[in-house]
Amino acid sequence: MQADQTVLCTLLAVDLNDYCYRVCSRCERVIPSDNNGVTSSSVCKFCKSKVPKLLYRILMSIATDTSVKTVICFDRAATVLFGCSADEFFHFTKLNPSTASMVNQVLDGEVFRMTLTRPHNRNAQHMRVASVVPLRSGFQPAIVTLTQLCSTTSH
Ligand SMILES: [Zn+2]
Repeated sequence: MQADQTVLCTLLAVDLNDYCYRVCSRCERVIPSDNNGVTSSSVCKFCKSKVPKLLYRILMSIATDTSVKTVICFDRAATVLFGCSADEFFHFTKLNPSTASMVNQVLDGEVFRMTLTRPHNRNAQHMRVASVVPLRSGFQPAIVTLTQLCSTTSH
């Protein structure tokens, strides 16, 4: 059993309903949040730091030449797709509320080479994206395209 697999795939959809989680910026332990992703307390229980940060954790659907699957993409790989940190993206979508729904439009259909790994946790349902490489030569991270769209539509 085992082995990472590298696949060529097309991105079908990104689930942005719950795309990030909060960790302590000092010790990187997860800070639990309520259902809305906002917490009442942002103080780390472990090191008492009061500076949380957001990390990506995104479910996405991809199509390989043999199947369609849902995979989970954590911070490092997601940053390649988005072109900014989860914190930056979160603030960008707060300032430009319409952009969250546009992420799918700008990323859908992009072709990537992804390395998928089996989750360490046997109960986890989805393979994780260990790395992602855009294959289209004109690929732009989502934040770049969204910033361009915002500046053209606001005039
Ligand atoms: Zn901490």
